[in-house]
Amino acid sequence: MPHPAAARNLSRTLRDTASLSEAGLLPPSADLAGLEAVQARYAIAVTPAMAALIDPADPRDPIVAQYIPDPAELVTAPHEIEDPTADAPFTPVPGVVHRYPDRALLKPLLACPVYCRFCFRREVVGPDGGLLTTEQLETAIAWFERTPQVREVILTGGDPLMLSPRRLAWLLERLAAIPHIEILRIHSRVPVADPARVNAALAAALTVEKPLYLCVHANHAREFTAEAMAALRQLTGAGVVLLGQSVLLRGVNDKAEALEDLFRAMLRGRVKPYYLHQLDPAPGTARFEVPPEEGRALLAALRFRVTGLAWPTYVQERPNGGGKAVVGPVWRDS
Ligand code: SF4
Repeated sequence: MPHPAAARNLSRTLRDTASLSEAGLLPPSADLAGLEAVQARYAIAVTPAMAALIDPADPRDPIVAQYIPDPAELVTAPHEIEDPTADAPFTPVPGVVHRYPDRALLKPLLACPVYCRFCFRREVVGPDGGLLTTEQLETAIAWFERTPQVREVILTGGDPLMLSPRRLAWLLERLAAIPHIEILRIHSRVPVADPARVNAALAAALTVEKPLYLCVHANHAREFTAEAMAALRQLTGAGVVLLGQSVLLRGVNDKAEALEDLFRAMLRGRVKPYYLHQLDPAPGTARFEVPPEEGRALLAALRFRVTGLAWPTYVQERPNGGGKAVVGPVWRDS
């Protein structure tokens, strides 16, 4: 039986508590006042594709956990910090983060198709946030042009696939034209969270001369719908190499079976699992935390159970912008 959201066949992204309630995506016991307080602080967006997956009657629905706000978000644990990856001190010009010698981030906008409740950039992402002007993009491109040790540009945000195909094509072409830039990479939630955005115009924008890697962010096998699979197929058809990144999340993928299903779904979609991230301590996200020892044990449980292609590297951001530390996989064969 289709659940209420699917039955309503939503055609637009839901951006506030009232719309979520109207669409039947909140449980009857929802604390509406608490949710409105969350809405005042953090962006909300649930796309039709993700709303159609939600079962509001299931208190443990992994899609609800990822996208539907919770009053617990207003409680900041003592170890949580606003900018867990410490981007600010590594920002030479607006939108650029240069932390490692051979690669740098470029954040052309801070809007996303959905707003994940565990997001490490939750204090800055939102529908109105961080769109770099043409002038700022020119400044960022000029920084890449005069920084020859950087060989890879990592477009992130926000979600770079929220740019119009025309804008994206312009930006990618400019970056690809820099002689010392060898690789372009994009981190995106769009192919799974809003697959309708992946169309011929977007695929054409992604067809560039330099190798383009697209890191698809997904945390549960159910996110790989038929529409998402078709979007991924269109992207590989455009010559894009697909990698997967996930966050280890309590209540979403904190069981060996859930991780196995997730990584197998990625591989079926031609996505190579690349990174499994330890949760970053952003404010109000403690309910998602899985200790690293537990994460290592989960990955060890998959040893021999899944193809080596399904193995991501399990990583954790060091504090104060120290970059990624490898947490796993760790196992002992006997
Ligand atoms: S799509 Fe990425 S940047 Fe946007 S809210 Fe989700 S985790 Fe954060």
